[in-house]
Amino acid sequence: MNRSVTRSAVALWGLLAAMASHAQFGSTPADLSVVPVATDLYVISNVAVPGLVTVLVTDEGVLLVDDKFEIDHDNIMAALRTITDKPVKYVINTHYHGDHAGGNAKLQALGAIAVASANARAQIVLNHLGGEQNITTEGQLNLYLGGKRVEIHPVGPAHTNGDVVVLFPDYDVLTSGDIFANGPGTSAQLVDYPGGGSAKAWPLAIDQALALDFDTVIPGHGLVSRRADLQAYRDRAQRFSDTLASLVQQKKSRADIEAVVRSQFDWEDFHVQAALDGLIGEFD
Ligand SMILES: [Zn+2]
Repeated sequence: MNRSVTRSAVALWGLLAAMASHAQFGSTPADLSVVPVATDLYVISNVAVPGLVTVLVTDEGVLLVDDKFEIDHDNIMAALRTITDKPVKYVINTHYHGDHAGGNAKLQALGAIAVASANARAQIVLNHLGGEQNITTEGQLNLYLGGKRVEIHPVGPAHTNGDVVVLFPDYDVLTSGDIFANGPGTSAQLVDYPGGGSAKAWPLAIDQALALDFDTVIPGHGLVSRRADLQAYRDRAQRFSDTLASLVQQKKSRADIEAVVRSQFDWEDFHVQAALDGLIGEFD
């Protein structure tokens, strides 16, 4: 039972991928579609997992936020080529997980520069995932491409210890990474404890995002959303944290706590196996 506590981050996310897919997730490419968000801003989307890719097209080239699993690279490029023939200049990773940063090495081979938080890169190195980022930041970082400004804001810890959100101020759009998900099969908050995540701090991370100026949110997984959806998710994250604190304080059994996270917070087998012991430990 306690094996999940010491399970490495790699295995944890392999487990997630395997179980979330109900098939062979990450071992076969996802079916992708292109969703327009604003002029020159798109999402390369799929059902639930892997994570969404945000696409900014400029005269000087393309900036991506996240790049799904490595196996999705060819389909991402094919989807991108339906929008533009410009090269990918930058890929920003919202965090280190393979369904958000797995395509880095292939994009870097095409000349792209990969950017993330220092903690996200440290997790990539620690777990030998490949595609180490070329640039890291521990604070706000602004990129300029084709006359557009893109802001990287570290937040958290929440989903991991290296979460960033990406603001496109010209469009009032925020890409949130996995501190927010919204859509079928994505609603459970999965805390990556081996990767430094925190359910307790998660609402504060969303507060940092909500301090920015935007109307539209591209979540880590799911559907393009509105600011109010992120606010609602923040309130749920607070309720999640408060509920756990209360259950642990009352010395409820592991089974009782498991029942609550399943019934009230949409946890499924893989969330329980990957993160329940860590969750109880955080509030103990
Ligand atoms: Zn993730």
